[in-house]
Amino acid sequence: MSENKKNSGEFATSAPEERSAFQALKRGLRRKCPCCGTGNVFRKYVTVEDECAVCGEELGHIRADDIPPYFTIMLVGHIVVPGVMWSEQSWAPSLWAHVAIWPALTLALTLAFLPFIKGGVLGVLWALKMFEDEKRYPVTK
Ligand SMILES: [Zn+2]
Repeated sequence: MSENKKNSGEFATSAPEERSAFQALKRGLRRKCPCCGTGNVFRKYVTVEDECAVCGEELGHIRADDIPPYFTIMLVGHIVVPGVMWSEQSWAPSLWAHVAIWPALTLALTLAFLPFIKGGVLGVLWALKMFEDEKRYPVTK
């Protein structure tokens, strides 16, 4: 580590300086560590591990905030809304059938997609070094 990096507050890490956002996205979509692609990024449903159990890369400081729910809602909406319109046009089910099918499908798809999308978002944020504590990774002049 150079003297300049020590003074800038950047932590020593085993992660490479050049990070591929696409590779980190692919690893994150598999809910794996964006750094090594082997360790799990979540310890529970969508609770981020503090650090990767395999490579030790710090993950707990990456904050995805509202981005994963936003992308999940957008994706599920583009599946459910055309489904509602298609079913109404093709076989016109009763109102009770709509009430029974679409909210349950919306909930199931949302819960199914959210961890994968959050993993992908965390991967891209990791690759772009966009962390909660920006002071640790200052922009160099
Ligand atoms: Zn790892």
